[in-house]
Amino acid sequence: MNVLVCIKQIPDPNAPGKLDPQTKRLVREGVDLVLDPGDEHAVEAGLQIVEKDAGEVTVISMGPPKAVDAIRRALAMGAHRGILVTDTALENSDAISTARAIAAAVKGQTYDVIICGTESTDGSSGAVPAQLAEFLALPLLSFAKKLEVAQGKAVIDRQTDDGYDVVEAPLPAVVTVTGGINEARYPALRGIMQAKNKEVKQVGLSDIGLDGQAGKAALTQEVVDATPAEARKAGEIVEDKGDGAKRVADFLKELKVI
Ligand SMILES: Cc1cc2nc3c(=O)[nH]c(=O)nc-3n(C[C@H](O)[C@H](O)[C@H](O)COP(=O)(O)OP(=O)(O)OC[C@H]3O[C@@H](n4cnc5c(N)ncnc54)[C@H](O)[C@@H]3O)c2cc1C
Repeated sequence: MNVLVCIKQIPDPNAPGKLDPQTKRLVREGVDLVLDPGDEHAVEAGLQIVEKDAGEVTVISMGPPKAVDAIRRALAMGAHRGILVTDTALENSDAISTARAIAAAVKGQTYDVIICGTESTDGSSGAVPAQLAEFLALPLLSFAKKLEVAQGKAVIDRQTDDGYDVVEAPLPAVVTVTGGINEARYPALRGIMQAKNKEVKQVGLSDIGLDGQAGKAALTQEVVDATPAEARKAGEIVEDKGDGAKRVADFLKELKVI
């Protein structure tokens, strides 16, 4: 089984993110960068498939040269090789440009399953996996909280508001996984050492035949404004003077929780 996992390096979500007021773009310089925690579940899902059925996991990312650190983290978890699409012409890429670049970078290679996180923790559009499936003319199975790959098909439990739907597609297919699908493994020291010697291929726009057709040259989205989220309001403390339970119940009724 050949598995491709799409990953992204993002500013550490545990630190407050900053937007550049001029460009409205996320500040990626001078901040701690990590492998998107959502993508760790995608890597774990890929590793579990090949551990069961044999095969290899390739990880791909698009980003500046330092994004190789996110790839090394996935390699330390156990992935076999990495591909980094990197080119200054790709800075400021929107979601569709990213999907186009990733699709071009894997064109002609055979993967049975392509696994992505549901959405990036920094951008949160959730658009790249579906666009990638479209560019590669593959079916998309999204929001998988369980994934089984066998007998030429992928079967998922697709998370919904009320429970889940069981959905399947023939291979090859693109699958997005939720954080609930697994517990992502922590890289062991041995994995970290081995990762240093694993292959990471770096390709630019001319290598993937997209000179002038991706990144800055082909933007279809523009962030025109950004407003900080409202600060969370302090809660109300109900002092129990004999009517505490009733006041809490009235509050929950007001919220239509009960
Ligand atoms: C595997 C993958 C999955 C993604 N999934 C999503 C998603 O689900 N939702 C979402 O909103 N966005 C996703 N993105 C990012 C998306 O393509 C847009 O980049 C993002 O939404 C744009 O907003 P930004 O403010 O982060 O832009 P920017 O900060 O301008 O970043 C734009 C993109 O360009 C890349 N980049 C910067 N410099 C270089 C360089 N030298 N070479 C190559 N690339 C470079 C960045 O890593 C980033 O992906 C994904 C990216 C990747 C690589």
